[in-house]
Parts: sequence; structure tokens; C-alpha cells
Amino acid sequence: MRKGLLMVVSGPSGTGKGTVCSELLRETPELAYSISATTRAPREGEVDGKNYYFLTKERFEKIIAEGGFLEYANVYGNYYGTPLAKIEERRAAGQDILLEIDIQGALNVMEKCPDGLFVFLLPPSIEELERRLRGRGSETEESLARRMGSARKEIAIGKRYQYVVVNDTVAHAVATIKEIITAEHCRVDRN
Ligand code: 5GP
Repeated sequence: MRKGLLMVVSGPSGTGKGTVCSELLRETPELAYSISATTRAPREGEVDGKNYYFLTKERFEKIIAEGGFLEYANVYGNYYGTPLAKIEERRAAGQDILLEIDIQGALNVMEKCPDGLFVFLLPPSIEELERRLRGRGSETEESLARRMGSARKEIAIGKRYQYVVVNDTVAHAVATIKEIITAEHCRVDRN
């Protein structure tokens, strides 16, 4: 049986990873989303166990100590992590899995899972990125400046990924990622 893909989508904060991944999942029912754990507070409308597992810092640190994360990172003062949750067993059974994580986390997964499929999502421009972050309305000027500063540095890291996709429109980015998945399924040098 073909081993499932471990597809990691990341990119600078505000690039639209969340929106692109939601649409990708909606259009690709055979792709399973890996629900991350986080210590940040839920945003309006977010549901525990669907968007994230919302954990206390103590609980998160206990899971780190138990080796329960494939990777974890501290992003803007909060922990985020990918629960191991039988990822390898699910892949062995042919299940494709999607991780939507930050760049530090993706670089850690590159070390641990060199057979992963790493997709870097880019905003069409730095100005557009700032506009999108402002449009969220959830950022203070200070957190916006911090996110923009790290985005500039992070964009350079895209070169370490296998694929770079520009999120000019969600529909276009999703269509491109679906083509990448199809291409990976057709590769003869995989497995
Ligand atoms: P947000 O707070 O906006 O939901 O997410 C902030 C950042 O954390 C985003 O870049 C998101 O991709 C990243 N993130 C979400 N889940 C994980 C995870 O499990 N691991 C890592 N390393 N980053 C994550």
C-alpha cells in the first residue's frame, strides 16, 4: 500500500495559511487535518477539538515532557504543537495528513520526517501581508510590528521547502496545492 503523505503547509503569519488549508480540506475529503494543541486563548467562533486543542501551559508542558509532540514551537509567546497521535501509523495505512504549522515547526518536521512534503505559502507582496494582518482586527500595533518583522526574515527561509505557492487568490493557491498532491501520488520514487 502507498504510504500516506505528510504534507506540511507553512509560511509567514498572515499569508492566509488557515483559509487556504480550510478550503483545501473542504475540497479534499481524503486529506486528514492534524489538529494542533495550543496554549493561546480561543478566538471567537473557535471550537476546542476542532480548530485546536486549547490547553493550559502546565498541561502542554506535561505532554512535551512525555514526548507527545512531533514538534512544538513557541509562537508569539504561546506554545503550539503537533500531537503525535499515531501520525506514522495513519500514514502507514495510506492516510494523507495535513499539518498547518509555523516555520520553526516545519523546519523541525523536516529533520524528523525527511519524507514529508513541504509547501511554503507566500503572500503576493509584503504590503498585502500587512493589509491582511490589519484586516484581521485582532492584532495590536505592537504584535503587528513583531509579525511583520518576522515575516520578512521568514520569507527567505522558503528556499528550504520543496514547493513555494503564492497565495494570490485562495482558489488559485488551493488548486496549485491539489496539483502538487496529485503529482506526489504519481511519483515513482516515493516509497
Ligand atoms: P494562530 O494563533 O493565528 O492560530 O496561529 C499562529 C501560528 O501558529 C500560525 O503560523 C500557525 O500556523 C502556527 N501553528 C498552528 N499550529 C501549530 C503547531 O502545531 N505547531 C507549530 N509549530 N505551529 C503551529
